[in-house]
Amino acid sequence: MKKILILGSSGSIGVNTLNVIRNFPDRFEVAALTVNTRIDLLEKQIEEFHPKYVVVKDEAAGIKLRDKVGNKCVVLTGASSLIDAAAGLDYDIFVGAMVGFYGLAPALEAIKRGKIIALANKETLVVAGELVTNLCNVFSSKLIPIDSEHSAIYQCLEGESTESIEKLIITASGGPFHKKEKKYFEDVTVEEALNHPNWKMGNKITIDSATLMNKGLEVIEARWLFGIRKNKIDVVIHPQSIIHSMVQFIDGSIKAQLGLPDMKLPIQYALTYPERLQNNFERTDLPKIGSFSFFEPDLEKFECLGLAYKVLEEGGTAPCILNAANEVAVEKFLSRKIKFTSIPVYINKALDKIENHKSPNIETIFDCDRQTREYVSTLN
Ligand code: MG
Repeated sequence: MKKILILGSSGSIGVNTLNVIRNFPDRFEVAALTVNTRIDLLEKQIEEFHPKYVVVKDEAAGIKLRDKVGNKCVVLTGASSLIDAAAGLDYDIFVGAMVGFYGLAPALEAIKRGKIIALANKETLVVAGELVTNLCNVFSSKLIPIDSEHSAIYQCLEGESTESIEKLIITASGGPFHKKEKKYFEDVTVEEALNHPNWKMGNKITIDSATLMNKGLEVIEARWLFGIRKNKIDVVIHPQSIIHSMVQFIDGSIKAQLGLPDMKLPIQYALTYPERLQNNFERTDLPKIGSFSFFEPDLEKFECLGLAYKVLEEGGTAPCILNAANEVAVEKFLSRKIKFTSIPVYINKALDKIENHKSPNIETIFDCDRQTREYVSTLN
């Protein structure tokens, strides 16, 4: 029986992780769940999965929940409890399902304990990829991707050596604006940007998919996860989102992993790796899909993807600056304070303003994140 801690159980990855766990009651047990504020949903999850511990980041919401659940489970509150849970509770697999930079600190604690890290939180590798992968080696902690593209590559690389890789080909749906002209971006509304053609996800990642920043973050994530240089990572637009990514080998052969756009599959693979378990998820009906198409990404139109390649080249804390600036800019766009086209503008300003520290330690990364957020918050 594997004990699972889910960091971020109310989001789309967290809910899907519980959907997977529900299918395998003899394999998995929920050790702990955490949420930011969604105690209504957490209460239902406690009823069904009986975790010993839960953490609510928002103090007031946590106290409210504690009154409701009584002695059914221990309710911890506050941001530091997320870190304490990862550092102190009894579990085997850490599922990093929360969005954003705040997923990093708890993941570091889990790594230091040599846990299996099933990682959906790409920011952990974007901002601190070198440090995180080094720590995983030191503490024999295994990092298994949940991000669908990286899960695809991980599956394609089973039985292959790193030396035999010619390049990784990460697929992108292209988001809702794949076919739009750049001038259309000027007046894009929040609703249009949130209307993703294939995937149902949280708001932050859906906006990142509309700007293609999500793909940029995934290029950086792949660089660290697979130890591959950036000039060997390509992005190709594949609007059907059935091929989740590919690996091209030095003999010219390409391996791909296919499936419906449903996160349950990569989540199950990460939880059961190296085994594959039978499930009743909907199967891919290829004749029904009919045809696949592929396009080069337009870096002029989707500036955020170009910026991600640029910060990967620069190294140091540049990816951390890009990530923090993007998180704040997306938040501002979602609250209708800035235009869609301002997102890359804000990131560029932050990259110009905030100093890039080469070979940063973890404190430098936290400082850089804070400085960038403060700076971008003042822009208007
Ligand atoms: Mg992805």
